[in-house]
Amino acid sequence: MTKPTFSAMPDEKGYFGEFGGQIIPPDLIKIMDDINDAYEEIRVTETFQNELMDLYQHYVGRPSPIFKTTKLSSGGAQIFLKREDLNHTGAHKINHCLGEALLAKHMGKTKVLAETGAGQHGVALATACALVGIECEIHMGEIDIEKEHPNVTKMKILGCKLVPVSRGTRTLKDAVDSAFEEYLKDPVHFFYAIGSVVGPHPFPKMVRDFQSIVGKEAREQFLSSEGKLPDVVTACVGGGSNAIGLFTAFLEDDNVELVGVEPAGKGLDTPDNAATLTLGVKGGLHGMQCYNLQDDNGEPLPVYSIASGLDYPGVGPQHCYLKDLGRVKYVTADDQECLDAFMTLSQKEGIIPALESAHAVAYAMKIAKDMSPDQTILINLSGRGDKDADFVAEKLGL
Ligand SMILES: *Cc1c(COP(=O)(O)O)cnc(C)c1O
Repeated sequence: MTKPTFSAMPDEKGYFGEFGGQIIPPDLIKIMDDINDAYEEIRVTETFQNELMDLYQHYVGRPSPIFKTTKLSSGGAQIFLKREDLNHTGAHKINHCLGEALLAKHMGKTKVLAETGAGQHGVALATACALVGIECEIHMGEIDIEKEHPNVTKMKILGCKLVPVSRGTRTLKDAVDSAFEEYLKDPVHFFYAIGSVVGPHPFPKMVRDFQSIVGKEAREQFLSSEGKLPDVVTACVGGGSNAIGLFTAFLEDDNVELVGVEPAGKGLDTPDNAATLTLGVKGGLHGMQCYNLQDDNGEPLPVYSIASGLDYPGVGPQHCYLKDLGRVKYVTADDQECLDAFMTLSQKEGIIPALESAHAVAYAMKIAKDMSPDQTILINLSGRGDKDADFVAEKLGL
């Protein structure tokens, strides 16, 4: 059997096996192809690489360290954290937002557009646009605006135009429609900045490339401090950007087990989860072919997770492909396991993780017990938990 070459993915039409592509109207295909051409052209130039690497180092604070925990694993495998929570703006999202804002600027676009749910993508994008010097417009449901006060305030301070969306459910789903309508008014001059490795080609590839710095650093750091590669590498999966960012450097390392952790929410046997790869079916969503959670009419289900960054009814096409190949294993952690991991990491190591990241921590703690002390697990700690502290405190009655 010939081994698939992961580095060659996706193909020219943006397919990872049967997943991905451009499930969009023909005139938009042309726009997306222009973005792909521009990206492929500048990606390899020294100017763009230097610009991005310089920002990663001096603005984001890269490389983020790897921290060896000592109290998480109860005598089992050693658990290491890739500290993306220490990045400027507190998560991995800044890695691809900077890349997208720079590309938009290089292409001479006049405005960067996006939707945001909990506001994490909005803040990271508004930050990148403020720095790069390009207009930024974020659409956000009115309900989410009420719920996410600190992020709303930050976006305003950062100078982006925040558009409240009052239609429909007044949440993320309608914010997507609203932002997309604005984009369609002038897609030649506007740039729709997608917040994960999802959407039409070239976004799954581009966002992956921008995030792959995480795995590149981690592999080198781990080799140099431990003299070997980790046995297990794990990350939480919403759209899949932080996970693919870490996994990419390890795809060809057959002895490294890669595991993506999806939110089981209130349980896989309830409607309140977002375990797309675990429970989903193949279909089209948001411009791509992927596994997704849909009702009998093919409409996306109203998914749920305690971590708002994970409640997406689809998932990046490369993850779908890696699942079917068997190269990456996808498992779940539920709300309770997530909360337990959140408190354990906070109280045993003094690191308050994002609820999203806590899903991966929960999985690592669970398997570490049954592994030997000379084995190692590397977790992508995708973000910090400042944004979740009040919510958790209230939930646990602290
Ligand atoms: C947005 C977010 C996620 C989920 O997005 P992915 O594209 O799956 O990485 C995970 N962790 C944090 C901290 C986030 O803000």
